Parts: sequence; structure tokens; C-alpha cells
Amino acid sequence: MRQSLILVVEDEEAIRTLIGMNLEVAGYAVAEAKDGFQALQRMRETRPDLILLDWMLPGLNGIDILRKMQVDSSLSSIPVIMLTAKSEESDIVLGLEMGAIDYITKPFSNKVLVARVRAHLRRQDEPDADETSIINYKGLTLDSNQWRAILNGVELSLTFSDFELLRLFCSSPGHVYTRQQIVVRTKGSDYPVTERAVDVQIVSLRKKLGADFGVNLETVRGVGYRMRN
Ligand code: CA
Repeated sequence: MRQSLILVVEDEEAIRTLIGMNLEVAGYAVAEAKDGFQALQRMRETRPDLILLDWMLPGLNGIDILRKMQVDSSLSSIPVIMLTAKSEESDIVLGLEMGAIDYITKPFSNKVLVARVRAHLRRQDEPDADETSIINYKGLTLDSNQWRAILNGVELSLTFSDFELLRLFCSSPGHVYTRQQIVVRTKGSDYPVTERAVDVQIVSLRKKLGADFGVNLETVRGVGYRMRN
């Protein structure tokens, strides 16, 4: 099997080298870039399977890079995980809305970083969740053909928008969705279209899922929501 290639974009050499070493030990091929311009050049040359993108970079920053990737059809489908400082919460929201699939806050453990990379690459190999009519997550089964949700053998009584929300979260456990993304992704249903309404809907959905299962639907402070991985 071909080794997956990870492009590590990070201006601090010590961190970049350390991340690269850890990924290689974990069995990945690694390419590196030390600034925004080099990042774009390297991703065009190497077509990586995944990009770890530091946010604060000389030249182009993370947002600039995501923006350039989005308008380039050869780059727009490459998954990006952002590496950000904790203080950059608003950047995280913006980054996720610009198409990043995940973020890791600095300082991070290398174990966590490798685990996230592995989880996302595994997901890429799986069939597209949107095309799958049955989604299983822990004890929950969502059947989009019959529009039924069964939790540990018991059918849940859900509204259309509850079901849509669950389907979004359960198709990508661990993936953080911002409120704005949730509004956009579930538009067209009976879903209320404000970000505040998302919060209300989540509280109600957690209740319907019960205390034991409801905790899986996590609030990511300052960012949005996700289903625990
Ligand atoms: Ca940096």
C-alpha cells in the first residue's frame, strides 16, 4: 500500500522537525514547508494526502492559504488540519468555515497529533458518509431510507431537523462544526436559521438522547459542536 504523504507547514524549525519525525515513526511520508509561499508550492508539487497547517506564518497566513486552496481545483480537496494557539479562537471558527477539517491547539502532544492524522486519513478511505443511508455510531443507528433513529434498541422520537443534525455529527465523529456551518448544512429542513437557534436545538436534542448518550454531543467552547470520536 502506498504511504500517505503529510505536508507539515510550520515556520518554527524545531516544531516542524519534531512533527515530521513523529509522523515518519508512525509510518507516514513527510514533506515540509516553512512559510506560506513554500506551502503552496510544495502542495502543488507533492499533492499530499493531508496538510498540517500552522496558522501564524511569514508571508501568507493560514487563512490566506486556505483561501488560495479553495479557488484551485487541484488543491481544494486536500484535507487541512490547522495548528493554532489557544488565543486564536476566532481564527479557528473562520478556518473551519473556510474548509479546514479540524484543528489542534498548541502546545499539543505528538501522540494526539498522530492520532488525529490517522483518524482523518482512515475516514478518507471510507465511503462518503453522505452517500451511506445507514450510519452507526456507538449504540445509535440512523437509517435515512426509513428516517428512523434507534438507540440501543429503542426508537427515538425526533423531528426532521433533529435527525439531520444527528446525521451530520455522526457521519464524522470528532469533526467540529461551527454554528454557521450547522445552519448551512441543515438548511432546507425545518431548521431555524440563526446561530442562537442552533444552541437551543442542541440542548433539546441532548435531552432526547438521554444523559448517557447525550454527553457524546460535545460543546467545543467558542467554536461549535461535535460528536465525540
Ligand atoms: Ca508559526
